[in-house]
Amino acid sequence: MQPISDKEIRGSFVNCSKGDARRANLPKGLSDLPWDDLDFLGWRDPGAPERGYIVAERNGGVVGVTLRLAQDVRRSITKSTVCSICLTTHSGTGVALFTAPRVGAAGRQGNTVGTYICADLACSLYVRGKKRVDLETTFETLTVEERVVRAVVNLSAFLDKVFEGTPSAAN
Ligand SMILES: [Zn+2]
Repeated sequence: MQPISDKEIRGSFVNCSKGDARRANLPKGLSDLPWDDLDFLGWRDPGAPERGYIVAERNGGVVGVTLRLAQDVRRSITKSTVCSICLTTHSGTGVALFTAPRVGAAGRQGNTVGTYICADLACSLYVRGKKRVDLETTFETLTVEERVVRAVVNLSAFLDKVFEGTPSAAN
């Protein structure tokens, strides 16, 4: 994706208040991030680890969504889980259940969309083999390019759900 600034990121959030967008802790060293290897910018809030953020290009613009870590007490620590965006299999807590408030009135009423995503939100780097997991259980027959396309499609489907029912859903 194209590099974006602090200001652009804060202005991109669609599912939180302006105050929350202002208070969000952004990744350090934005200009040094490997933008060429990122399909979207994802990070956990260094000051509030239960919060996460995804900023992605969408319809010619940039859209940011805030996520919250959902407590998932049923999951065993030894079980492996698959990220629903990049389909990387992680053991233990490498994948986390996140919920995103829906855009608009639905979100303000507490309506959320939940999905399992790599806990560090670094899907783009796993897809490209720039970041590795400790277990390699899945045998991927797809090329990196195909895996990138698949992750982008999955992310887009997730964002569609966050936007569902709003006028901007059709954009
Ligand atoms: Zn992932």
